[in-house]
Amino acid sequence: MSDFYDNIAYVLGHTLYLNITNRCPCACDFCIRTHSKSVGTGDNLWLEREPTQTEIMAALAQHDLSQYRELVFCGYGEPTCRLDDLLWVCNKVRGIRDIPIRVNTNGLSDLINGRSTAKSFQGLVDAVSVSLNASTPEKYVELCHPKYGLDALPAILTFTKDVVQYVPEVDMTVVDNGTPKEELAACEALCKQTGAHFRVRRYITTYEEEAKKPDPQIS
Ligand code: SF4
Repeated sequence: MSDFYDNIAYVLGHTLYLNITNRCPCACDFCIRTHSKSVGTGDNLWLEREPTQTEIMAALAQHDLSQYRELVFCGYGEPTCRLDDLLWVCNKVRGIRDIPIRVNTNGLSDLINGRSTAKSFQGLVDAVSVSLNASTPEKYVELCHPKYGLDALPAILTFTKDVVQYVPEVDMTVVDNGTPKEELAACEALCKQTGAHFRVRRYITTYEEEAKKPDPQIS
């Protein structure tokens, strides 16, 4: 049975993940949290409350960072709902260990925080993975049900185009859940406009599948 800290910092494969919030402005049809509460060593990623900055660092202190290839902010909600805390933690980690830091995000940081946020990632984050998921604002709404409605996809594309200027590695992903080839091609074309790399993720539904292919479908 994991404790509070084990569900803040959880391990999958050779990656250490940080779960700092359950908040998210979307409700994606494919989101793993709709059918599972456990990922990797986290047995219940639905946090009883959001951890403080100190508690996040305490959760990290339970791990030897030299043993992991990467530290990833990912789920069980959208990490940029706590952008200031996320960046604070990145800054602290930079002072402890030279480990690559990635943020898995739905790309809605600017709308969530009410300002342009890409520049604040500079020097603190090594990679950003943005969920694209649909080629039009209408399709995005149908699949991801963002609270921002049709404004969501344009904001995601703007954020991605911006963050490419400040973060060395940026990709956009689409979950292939029987997605038509034409839709995948349209998403790839949109992604190219931002300057990010395009990646298709396989749809996975169970922890066993998850363990074989690290990178949970959360943000
Ligand atoms: S997949 Fe990501 S963006 Fe979609 S509901 Fe889940 S946490 Fe939110």
